[in-house]
Amino acid sequence: MKFDLSVTVINGQKALIVQPAIPDDAPQEVKNALATRREANATGVCPACGAVWTRPSRAERREAARRGDPVHLRMEHEDDCSALRVA
Ligand SMILES: [Zn+2]
Repeated sequence: MKFDLSVTVINGQKALIVQPAIPDDAPQEVKNALATRREANATGVCPACGAVWTRPSRAERREAARRGDPVHLRMEHEDDCSALRVA
């Protein structure tokens, strides 16, 4: 799978978003799923299931900053979310 990068601001801090590229030759359902993921990644809210980013705890953020590592945000989609239909 290919990815592209974009930069946004989350809670006043710059964030790098790694987005799945949408292959021209993918089945329409996969294209739709990837488009949903891209929107969820860019906005922080999944348009299909309503999942939102889970922000790391303060301790996790401090530890990442101490190590000089990026902070990763997670989004837990519902099991039947259309964003998961990429296989
Ligand atoms: Zn979702």
